[in-house]
Amino acid sequence: MRYYSTSDASHTVPLEHAVLHGLAPGGGLYMPQTIAPLPEAFLRNLAAMSLPEIGYAVANYALQGDVEANALHDIVTETLSFPIPLVEIAPGRYVLELFHGPTMCFKDIGARFMGRLLRYFHDRHYGWSDIHVLVATSGDTGAAVASGLLDVPGVRLTVLYPQEQISYAQEAQFASLGRNVTALEVKGNYDDCKRLVAEALLDGELTRELHLTTATTVNIARLLPQTFYYFYAYAQLLAAGADTPQIVFSVPSANLGNLASGLLAQRMGLPVKRFVSVENRNNIFYNYIRTGRFTPRDSVYSIAPALDAGNPTNFPRITALTGSHEQTCRDVHAYCFDDSDIAQTMRQVYARHDYQFDPHSAIAWRGLEADLGDGETGVSLATAHPGKFRTIVEDIMNREIPLPASLARSLSAPRRVTTITNGFNAFRRYLLSQAQ
Ligand SMILES: *Cc1c(COP(=O)(O)O)cnc(C)c1O
Repeated sequence: MRYYSTSDASHTVPLEHAVLHGLAPGGGLYMPQTIAPLPEAFLRNLAAMSLPEIGYAVANYALQGDVEANALHDIVTETLSFPIPLVEIAPGRYVLELFHGPTMCFKDIGARFMGRLLRYFHDRHYGWSDIHVLVATSGDTGAAVASGLLDVPGVRLTVLYPQEQISYAQEAQFASLGRNVTALEVKGNYDDCKRLVAEALLDGELTRELHLTTATTVNIARLLPQTFYYFYAYAQLLAAGADTPQIVFSVPSANLGNLASGLLAQRMGLPVKRFVSVENRNNIFYNYIRTGRFTPRDSVYSIAPALDAGNPTNFPRITALTGSHEQTCRDVHAYCFDDSDIAQTMRQVYARHDYQFDPHSAIAWRGLEADLGDGETGVSLATAHPGKFRTIVEDIMNREIPLPASLARSLSAPRRVTTITNGFNAFRRYLLSQAQ
């Protein structure tokens, strides 16, 4: 399979190149050149298959032999080593819990897959020189990617994050690891961190000297594995005997990576009726759906901080998948809610259904409730464990939320942090000082 750039469709590269470079020249995003539907028989058999079996079948089909079959089987099986349960909260309304991985966030799935894929590339290359992976984070990405890439041979990871804008617990998850992971605190905001990474990836000298790539959802290696759980949700509905050939999926959106993966799964043949994309006050995609204009803005702070993105990275992939604004509007309904809506939803669902959402998962549920029609089956994606955003959840719920054990361990571990200003020159100098 070859991957084309969203900014120049005539520029195509093999999988390994797309993963090891992250961004295409000129800032384009890589996309698979052909997306063919999986065989009908596969979809009919889904109910009898396990999560790793489904993941392997989907990956094998998507990658078209680019990763050797036995190796791919191991990569997928190790990636999907935790459960992804589908919980029925109300009749016909389900929550897909994507947060049972090591950092309690759905990003673990893409990050673990990418780490294992990099190890596979490394092991096949004699004389591999270290690659430097850069990642900008508003909290969750840094933790998931650091966990997924920790100790991968031939890989060094630098996590850029905005000073004083992520929680103490989030910083602990990547700044306490050491080994091949460096925490780089930037005197600026999340959008500054994203800009620094993008500039570095387009800097010829830096990319040559340091073999730079990124592990945000810019990287196609993060997006492909996110199709697995859409298929698995469908499989679980079938296994439960639900009479539902068509599902409405609701997704809490920031950089639109999760939504892009869902649209990809739909184009691979998954029977999805439509998607619901739900934002907080950073409603760039919602405005695009309404007006047809894509207008990035500075992000504003919210109680669902992983959704505070003012310039959604994967927007070009959404339009590449749907083809037009009109088609996007058919495939995706968009909503946005503010902090008080999020808090109210968390309290209401807890009172009515005895189910505790974190703020990000709550916003998706709110969108599903607003959009789902009579007789439709809805699946709302729960992207983080409530314990991961414990202080916010405790404030809203006025009750104690237990701290997950893995988070408690990293909280007390010593951290090592380097601080830089938000100018590109300082970052560039820092990176060059890291080259051997
Ligand atoms: C990253 C994240 C999101 C947003 O996902 P995108 O792929 O960026 O749209 C939603 N919820 C949580 C908890 C996240 O960490």
